Amino acid sequence: MFELYLEKPEQLKLREATRVPSLKANEARVKLIYGGICGSDLRVFRGTIPYAKYPCRPGHEILGVVMEAGEKSPHKPGTRVISFPNTYCGSCEFCLQGKTNICSGKESFGVTINGLFANEIIIDSEFLVPIPSELADERAILTEPFAVNVHALKKIDISKETSVAVVGCGTEGFMSIALLEYLGAKITVLDINPAKLEKAKNSYKTIEILLPGQVEDQCFDVVIEAAGAKAAIEQAFLMVKPGGTLITLGITNEQVSFPSLHVTRSEMTIYGSIIYTKQDFEDAFGFLKDPKFNISPVLSKIVPFKHYEKAFEDALTGNFTKIVLDFRDSR
Ligand SMILES: [Zn+2]
Ligand SMILES: [Zn+2]
Repeated sequence: MFELYLEKPEQLKLREATRVPSLKANEARVKLIYGGICGSDLRVFRGTIPYAKYPCRPGHEILGVVMEAGEKSPHKPGTRVISFPNTYCGSCEFCLQGKTNICSGKESFGVTINGLFANEIIIDSEFLVPIPSELADERAILTEPFAVNVHALKKIDISKETSVAVVGCGTEGFMSIALLEYLGAKITVLDINPAKLEKAKNSYKTIEILLPGQVEDQCFDVVIEAAGAKAAIEQAFLMVKPGGTLITLGITNEQVSFPSLHVTRSEMTIYGSIIYTKQDFEDAFGFLKDPKFNISPVLSKIVPFKHYEKAFEDALTGNFTKIVLDFRDSR
């Protein structure tokens, strides 16, 4: 059995791991097929998440097959599953309202607790979600990052008349574009990198692409901030029409200035949106099952697990959207 391991930031290794022989009642043993490298894995790698714990096994987006299940696990051997990689207590005031994504006892696989990048894992069945049979592995592995967008876009009504700007053309930005295109919105995409804009335009023909300097203030009904950078967030505020909505998805540790007068005078609605609930996973499956839902441009490449160093190196360049490791090639 092998796992990826971070002794401390920047020191990612592949090492032999001990196989735990027996399962607890609610646990399952899962053999991995795919593992998606996420922005948070890169931040844990770089050491820029203040609350991340080391040493740790990175990774939280995985897809695999149940090999063995404890007597209380609802997932029988042979079931294809993905991870639901943020825990919740089930009893705090937020969990009781169904908002497990803001649970006060939340832990995140690969960040605050051991992650999932190993060719075989043992995991509490509560944090596994079975995949619909008609959904291919290559689409199902995108469920977790896509559910972030499903959750965010539930906060607003999108019609064919809605003008939406997506700020930032990374994985989440791409997924926003895919979902907004499917919903029929009028989409404008911003990024500081012209190559990323070109790539988005090649994949999604109906979008308009603009560099930050080409955008006028106050001309979008909805602005989705998916860049997670100070300048992008500050510009996103200014782009919202009076009475419009800003959704912040991007993650940054930087201090951002809040344009209080502008927000008040324009009666802007601002939504923060963090991860997802299990219902968002189910709703994400609904989109992913439809072949007309064009999510495939998000998947940049699938690389054998043994090339993990190159895969992380490529992901760190920011020139790719989703890079997926294939754990079947681990030996
Ligand atoms: Zn992720
Ligand atoms: Zn809770």
